[in-house]
Amino acid sequence: MDKDQKFQDKTLICKDCGKNFTWTASEQRFYSEKGLKNVPARCEKCRIFYKEKHKFKVSSPIKCSDCGAEGEIAYIPKNKNELILCENCFAKRQKEHQLAKNAKKDVKEI
Ligand SMILES: [Zn+2]
Ligand SMILES: [Zn+2]
Repeated sequence: MDKDQKFQDKTLICKDCGKNFTWTASEQRFYSEKGLKNVPARCEKCRIFYKEKHKFKVSSPIKCSDCGAEGEIAYIPKNKNELILCENCFAKRQKEHQLAKNAKKDVKEI
């Protein structure tokens, strides 16, 4: 069988925008040559958007001041003394803040 006939254009549904897109035979061959077994989940437009979004995502390696877990945060801390929390502790603290606010108690600022 000729290599080119092995692949045919396929219509897939983009998981981001929900639109149909064509996974072309040449793309399929490219995937196959790279040994990629998964099919693309996004259309070309969304794939570019997705890549860009991730490229510009700011992240700083951190160590959580609360639980000591190491991780990343999606912003650059303004100063080194800033209390830095992992995602879990941050969410927990926000919840506590909210509860404290609701209870009209004094909330000590960090
Ligand atoms: Zn899309
Ligand atoms: Zn933590």
